[in-house]
Amino acid sequence: MIAQQTIQQILSRIDIIEIVGNFVRLKKRGANYLGLCPFHNEKTPSFTVSPAKEIYKCFGCGRSGNTISFLMEHEKYSYAEALRWLAARYNVEIEEKELSPELRLQQQVADSLYIINGFAQKFFSDALLDSEEGRDIGLSYLKERGFNEAIIRKFQLGYCPDGRDAFASAALAAQYNPENLRKSGLVVLRDQRLVDNYRGRIIFPVHNQTGKVIGFGARIIRSNDRAPKYINTPENEIYVKSKILYGSWLARQAIDKQDECLLVEGYTDVISLHQAGIENVVASGGTSLTIDQLRLIKKYTRHLTIIYDGDGAGIKAALRGLDMALEESLDVKLVLIPDQEDPDSYVRRLGAAAFRDFIAAGKKDFILFQLEVALKDAGDDTNKKAAVVNQVAETISRISKAEDFTKQQDYIRQSAELLRIEETGLHSLVNKFTRERIAKQENRRTAEEAAAPSLPADQASVPQDDESIGLLFRHEQNERGMIRDLLEFGLRPWDERTLVADYILAESIDLIDLIDNKRLLKILELYKNWYEQGLEPTTRNFLYHEDQELSTLAVSIMDLHYEISPNWKDHYDGKIFSSDELYKEDVLSTMGYLKLRKIKRLIEENQKDMNKSQSGEELRLQMETHQHLKELEKGLLRELGTVIVK
Ligand SMILES: [Zn+2]
Repeated sequence: MIAQQTIQQILSRIDIIEIVGNFVRLKKRGANYLGLCPFHNEKTPSFTVSPAKEIYKCFGCGRSGNTISFLMEHEKYSYAEALRWLAARYNVEIEEKELSPELRLQQQVADSLYIINGFAQKFFSDALLDSEEGRDIGLSYLKERGFNEAIIRKFQLGYCPDGRDAFASAALAAQYNPENLRKSGLVVLRDQRLVDNYRGRIIFPVHNQTGKVIGFGARIIRSNDRAPKYINTPENEIYVKSKILYGSWLARQAIDKQDECLLVEGYTDVISLHQAGIENVVASGGTSLTIDQLRLIKKYTRHLTIIYDGDGAGIKAALRGLDMALEESLDVKLVLIPDQEDPDSYVRRLGAAAFRDFIAAGKKDFILFQLEVALKDAGDDTNKKAAVVNQVAETISRISKAEDFTKQQDYIRQSAELLRIEETGLHSLVNKFTRERIAKQENRRTAEEAAAPSLPADQASVPQDDESIGLLFRHEQNERGMIRDLLEFGLRPWDERTLVADYILAESIDLIDLIDNKRLLKILELYKNWYEQGLEPTTRNFLYHEDQELSTLAVSIMDLHYEISPNWKDHYDGKIFSSDELYKEDVLSTMGYLKLRKIKRLIEENQKDMNKSQSGEELRLQMETHQHLKELEKGLLRELGTVIVK
């Protein structure tokens, strides 16, 4: 919890070139700096940093952001961690915000759970490797299953002695708080005494991304009908099942390097693959993927390959979470392990090299895979097939980020082919689902905003890459253009007496109903508000706005185009404005297209009215309106013809 003054102090010191320059070699190019993008592989630099705008953008992979989001993405920091890193760098002393009593208590419990887990992990490891019982029962079992001692140590596996309270009494002797011990799930209360919960089991510590132990999985050694195969830590302050990716702390670098994350079901799958030298692998714990897990994966890579057993339940569980993966712009592939095998046994049998080849050759695209399964299932049943069409359209509609546009088009084409239906039909169905979902999301967002005041900045969730303009709303480019012009050129002169902001704000009144994106509207309103109060808002006010959603949107709107194109001046010289007034052309063009759309919409509405028209008089008026609108349209088109056509 960092105090607001501290945040302001840090923000005022930020030098994006210096910070990004720590990680990327930057060369000056005109007003900007250029380097090889750290987020995707490239040979010619397309990663651009603008010191004036305090943002970066990559024209190769589309990533963009400010200094803080750079640190979050590149160093996998949280917002607060990024601020602390910057504070240390600029010698800003951090003033902590006073925690509420509940939060402080929660923090204390979390701290002691980490300490207890660390103690327990050591206890179980020692019991496995150094005690007679552990070596005889635990270690021999693990070796029988093919794990060598190096991998056992790497994953910090352990053994819980079979006695009644070997661990519990050691923990109590070490003065750990009984209440927290119970919370950790390591012990349970029986007849007024704390006894061990994992007696006689193999212990798999579960670590968070930084390698701290947050909980355990305890596996039975000899199968037994009455006892569960695994006992897992109950949900507590630090063990939150939906956010856990087993093995992520050891997989991070390998995932980064190979730009692919393999996902398996269980602990032993992860460990076996590691032992075989395949390290870019994590496990979800067998349930369907959650949005938090997907976002964690997305921090490392966009390529997710799910490896599943041949049994039907596994596939269904895998497919369930995957629609969300598409929304997160993850590229998802499925690999099916042959019947009677799991990744653990299969990699042992094939060896690492052959297993890798198998994965590479067996990868199937998730959407097409799902479609094939469903089509086979539907057979000749027309109703079922219609349901399949709907389902696939719904799925494809979730690919909604602008940079995924071609991907979506490809899916529509391939799916239409598989389904033997018209591509255009599928297209409009996909659009329908996109529209519906965006409407739903906006409603929810508005409801949430009404319900809760905005969180302080350091509590806000990780900002999402905000390219999520529905594809449907490619028009939104225009609307974004208007906001961009406002932010970038708003304070420049429009004519002798007014500024660009005066012009845009006045014109925007009639155009507001064209804007579908509520957050764009929010920026517009905020700007207007500030401007009318006599403030001079610039992009900077939005760039570091404590509402991360606004800040991300502001970054994604900003355009570095003007500085990076070397031909730019030659190209536009000699148009109606002198070269230092070219921004006016941009403003005119953006506003012109918005007006054109407005007129087109009015024409459409008028035409609908004409179809319903009852009396001749009514129709005559509508015809006149039509004529008038058409004239306006023609005039605008003429005007637009003389400025830049984008
Ligand atoms: Zn890039």
